[in-house]
Amino acid sequence: MLHIGCHLSPSDGLLNMAKTASSLGADTFQFFSRNPRGSKARTLDEADAGAMLAYLSGNAFAPVLVHAPYTLNPCAEKLSVAEFAEMVMRDDLARCTAMKTPFYNFHPGSHVGQGISAGIEKTAALLNRILDDSTDTTVLIETMAGQGSEIGGTFEEVKAIIDGVERNDRVGVCLDTCHVFAAGYDIANDPDGVLTAFDRIIGLDRLKFIHLNDSKFALGAHKDRHAAIGEGCIGLEGVRRIVNHPALRSLPFCLETPHEALSEYADEIALVRGMTE
Ligand code: FE
Ligand code: FE
Ligand code: ZN
Repeated sequence: MLHIGCHLSPSDGLLNMAKTASSLGADTFQFFSRNPRGSKARTLDEADAGAMLAYLSGNAFAPVLVHAPYTLNPCAEKLSVAEFAEMVMRDDLARCTAMKTPFYNFHPGSHVGQGISAGIEKTAALLNRILDDSTDTTVLIETMAGQGSEIGGTFEEVKAIIDGVERNDRVGVCLDTCHVFAAGYDIANDPDGVLTAFDRIIGLDRLKFIHLNDSKFALGAHKDRHAAIGEGCIGLEGVRRIVNHPALRSLPFCLETPHEALSEYADEIALVRGMTE
């Protein structure tokens, strides 16, 4: 069976979030460890975290994903910005370790004029500082659309970050279907070609999670705008090819599509489940 869920908010607590996921037909999900714009995380309720963990294993959930605030810039030139990213990510890793959630996903950042290789070096250096023995969480680098000066818009860039990390046994990749499509990899029409390239450059053993999104903009547009499943340039047939690909179908998929109501995610989860062969 396909493992699929959507992005959820822990505002009513961790256990309730997991129960909400179940009610939507999900068996995985993603959530922000704190306000998506960064800043303050509330103190972790360890009893609630334990209750979520028991619920997830009792209901045969696939691994869930904790997402870093998307406003962090781990390779910022300005020291205060880079230090803030490091402080938040270090704290998030401690929370993931306490929650026993195995994966922490982040955006590798934007070099903003420093150049791609400087950006790659800074992001890898940050990972080297935070991946110590205090955490056993695996950090996932998200593949990016290559919008503006984002790093991680090519598989080579993702691989270069991984290669710069000493403890890279604890580094994996989250492939965002909207992002790779916008970056110029035609995962809609040629998932086999894209995944063969991924395997050759990064290695499919690094791939731990899929963000399943359609794309508002065309192949190679380098624009990060998610569309609902079937309502973008990837299309229903493209999504069908992706979720049935033998290299992907046992991985957890998370929808990050633009919907207001939870019922729309329930419908989309059912739609995608109905596509699996
Ligand atoms: Fe993301
Ligand atoms: Fe994503
Ligand atoms: Zn995105």
